[in-house]
Amino acid sequence: ASGYSLLRDPHHNKGLAFTEKERDAHYLRGLLPPAVIPQELQMKKLMHSLRQYEVPLHKYVAMMELEERNERLFYKLLVDNVEELLPVVYTPTVGEACQKYGSIFRRPQGLYISLKEKGKILEVLKNWPERTIQVIVVTDGERILGLGDLGCQGMGIPVGKLALYTALGGVRPSACLPITIDVGTNNEQLLKDEYYIGLRQKRATGKEYYDFLHEFMTAVKQNYGEKVLVQFEDFANHNAFELLAKYGTTHLVFNDDIQGTAAVVLAGLVASLKLLGGTLADHTFLFLGAGEAGTGIAELIALEMSKQTKVPVEETRKNIWLVDSKGLIVKSRKESLQHFKKPWAHEHEPCNNLLDAVKAIKPTALIGTSGVGKTFTKEVVEAMAAFNKKPLIMALSNPTSQAECTAEEAYTWTEGRAIFASGSPFDPVEYNGKTYVPGQANNAYIFPGLGFGLVISGSIRVHDDMLLAASEALAGQVTQEHYDKGMIYPRFSTIRKISAHIAANVAAKAYELGVATRLPRPADLVKYAESCMYSPNYRTYR
Ligand code: NAP
Ligand code: MN
Repeated sequence: ASGYSLLRDPHHNKGLAFTEKERDAHYLRGLLPPAVIPQELQMKKLMHSLRQYEVPLHKYVAMMELEERNERLFYKLLVDNVEELLPVVYTPTVGEACQKYGSIFRRPQGLYISLKEKGKILEVLKNWPERTIQVIVVTDGERILGLGDLGCQGMGIPVGKLALYTALGGVRPSACLPITIDVGTNNEQLLKDEYYIGLRQKRATGKEYYDFLHEFMTAVKQNYGEKVLVQFEDFANHNAFELLAKYGTTHLVFNDDIQGTAAVVLAGLVASLKLLGGTLADHTFLFLGAGEAGTGIAELIALEMSKQTKVPVEETRKNIWLVDSKGLIVKSRKESLQHFKKPWAHEHEPCNNLLDAVKAIKPTALIGTSGVGKTFTKEVVEAMAAFNKKPLIMALSNPTSQAECTAEEAYTWTEGRAIFASGSPFDPVEYNGKTYVPGQANNAYIFPGLGFGLVISGSIRVHDDMLLAASEALAGQVTQEHYDKGMIYPRFSTIRKISAHIAANVAAKAYELGVATRLPRPADLVKYAESCMYSPNYRTYR
C-alpha cells in the first residue's frame, strides 16, 4: 500500500510516531513533517487538548474523530485514562451524543439494519469489512439509557459499549460489530427533525417486528457461526424479556440491562456486606422501577440468596420488593401485571408512592432503576436514614440527569451514613470535613469481562451461573483499602485486571457447564485471559 493510504487507514496509522526506518520502507517520506513523536508524547498532547474543551460533547466528538483517524491511539488513551474518559465515551456524555446524533453525525459507525433491508440482512452483514466477528452489541433504540426512544440515533450506545469491550475487556476492535436495528421510532420530535437519520415511520410491532428480528438473528448465526456473542442493549422491556427468552436457548446472547446490570449490582451488594454486616438474606431490598434492570437485579439477588441458604427462590424473593409507576407491586393489585413483575407481587397493603412503601417495608437497601431523576427525595432518603445505621442507596438510572438522587444528596440527607453508588459517575463529596467516594454501579464493570470470558472459552450459551461467576469475581476485587473509604466497587483505573478475573471466572464456569468449545481448557485462566487481551501499543512495521 502507498504511504498516503497508510496514513488514512485508522487501523494502521500512527501519525508522527512512524520511525525513520518505517518512513523509508513505507513511502512516507515527505508526507509527514520531520519530527518523530512517540505514542506516549502523542497521548500527552491529546489529553492536554481534550482538557481544553469545556463542553463534554466536544470531547466526545474529538474522541470519535480520533477513533476514525488512529485507532490504537484512541484505545491507548482510553485504557490509560479510563476514569477521565469513561464519562466522555460512555454515560453521561454518550446520552447527549445520541440525542444530537443527527447533527454531530459525520461518518457512519457500525451497521444500520433498517426495515428497508428486510429479506436482505445476510447481504447487509456481508457489506461489513471484517469477516471474523466475536462480539455484536445490538439495539433497536427504543429505550436509550433513561432517555426513551431515540430511534436510529441509539447507535451511539452500541458504538460506545464496544469501545469499552476493547478498552476495558481486551476484545480486538476488528472483532467488534455495533448494530442498530431501525424499525422506526415513536419519538415525535425525531420524526419531525429534518436532520433525523433514521426511518421516518412509527415503530413496527408484533409479527412484523419479531419476524425482522428473527431474520437478523438467523443471519448472524449463519454468517458468523455459533460462537459470536450478541449483546442486546437498550431494548424496551416489552421486547427485551421475550427476545432474551427466545434466543437464549439457540444463540450466545445476553441482555446487558437485565443481566449485566444484575451482576454488577449483586457484586456491590455482596461487597457492601463487609460494611453492613450480615448475609444477603438478612437484608430487605426495595426497588424503584420494576423493568429490565429492577427485576433483573432482583432475580439474581434472589438466586444468590437461594444458593447460599438452600431456601427455594420462591421464598428468597420475599425479601425483595418493587415499586413501579403505580406504586408497590402487591398481590391485591387490580390491573394485570406484566409477566416479569408477577414473581414480585407479595402479600401487602397497597402503597401508592415510594415514601409510603419505604416506611412500610423498611428496606435496608434502596435501589433506583426507574429512569426518572430526583425520585429519591429528601423525605425518602431521610426515612431510610431513620431506621438504618448505614442505609444502602443506589441511584442506578442513567445518564446523570435521570439519577434518582445525587451523591451529595445521599450523603447530606443521611448525615454521611449512606453507602452510595450510582449508574453515572459523581465526584467525591466533602461533608463535615470528611471526603466520601461514591461508587459507580455500572454494567461497564461486568460486560467487557463477561463477554471476553465467553469469547476466550468459545462458549456457545450464556447461563445464569456465569452471571453469578462474573459478579463473584468483581466483588472479589474489592479490597480492605476500598472498604476503608466506604467504597463497594474497585476503581475503574484497574479495570483490565478486573476484567481478566471476571473473564477467567466466567470461562471456568463455561468449562464446568460443558458449553466451552475452546479445548483443552487452559490451566491458568487468569493468565490465559491476560495473554489474549488486545494491546493498543503501536506495532513496528517492517
Ligand atoms: P424499563 O424496563 O423501562 O423500566 C423502568 C421501570 O421504572 C418500570 O417498571 C416503570 O414503571 C418504572 N417507572 C417509571 N417511572 C416511574 C416513576 N415515576 N415512579 C416509579 N416507577 C417508575 O427500564 P430499565 O431497562 O429497567 O432501565 C431503567 C433505568 O435504569 C434507565 O435509566 C437506565 O439507564 C438505568 N440502567 C442503569 C444501568 C447501570 O448499569 N447502572 C443498567 C441498566 C439500566 P411501569 O412498569 O409501571 O411503567
Ligand atoms: Mn443499557
